[in-house]
Amino acid sequence: MKFQSFHHLFFASKVGAFSRVTKREYKDSQITLTGLEAQIVIDYYKIKNIQIGNVKSNPSKASKDFILYNTNTAIKLNLVYPKPSKRELRLYISKKNGFKPKGGMIWFIFVNKKNKLVVGALDEVTWNSLDQYDIDDNEYINSINLTIPKKKDIRNISTKGEIIKIKTKGRTTYKRNPNLAILRFEKSGYKCEINPRHETFTSIRTNLPFVESHHFIPMKYQGIIKYPLDNLDNLISLCPNCHRAFHHAIIDEKVLLIKDVYEKRTQLHNLYSVEDLKGFYNCISIKD
Ligand SMILES: [Zn+2]
Ligand SMILES: [Zn+2]
Repeated sequence: MKFQSFHHLFFASKVGAFSRVTKREYKDSQITLTGLEAQIVIDYYKIKNIQIGNVKSNPSKASKDFILYNTNTAIKLNLVYPKPSKRELRLYISKKNGFKPKGGMIWFIFVNKKNKLVVGALDEVTWNSLDQYDIDDNEYINSINLTIPKKKDIRNISTKGEIIKIKTKGRTTYKRNPNLAILRFEKSGYKCEINPRHETFTSIRTNLPFVESHHFIPMKYQGIIKYPLDNLDNLISLCPNCHRAFHHAIIDEKVLLIKDVYEKRTQLHNLYSVEDLKGFYNCISIKD
């Protein structure tokens, strides 16, 4: 399966693919590369450099270089077309060579920004929850709570937002305007946009129902998106429960939330499909 926006950002990849290792592949110590997986390897090594026949007939041609994800170590794995028809491209996984993912794990292959071919594997729960932590989100919620809304500031605000880069500790983030969030709350009547009947409590700061603001297309994608993501249309007013679900729920439940908001933000329909949105949220269900 093809890497989505989320994976490209997370792994800093140019092209990538992933799939589940079958029990059979683990037992036989070989993965048959299909579709994009095969394409990535062929484009990288060029077809003329890929060994046809078994490994033994030309061990040095069969042995290929990879970088192992996480440890960043250089490893060698055998890669061949066992048959002259070149129908099946086979990657031999080996504990001795440093890469032997178990059956059921998600293995992935990608070309990184330094043009290296990287392989790795993660268990499925880890793979699906790579997206969980948005360290800037809590800070954002706090900044909104600490802002006492001034009618004048909110009235004069540009709803299109602006892109303001912030560099902290070598990391680039983007400014999130608390007043824009407050404007979103006013438009939603301080209610949850998933369902206005969702219960919340009264905020001690504002004496209004406590709601949270979430960027529908997450702010971490600002680096690859040309228009400001901190804009009124991209903000959703959510009850704390729904907001947590956007970050921590299982894929099926997250997809329901994504579809619900997508229906309400019709202005996004000519820019993105629901599939694109799922790609932003690491919500791709893994098919066998
Ligand atoms: Zn959020
Ligand atoms: Zn809610």
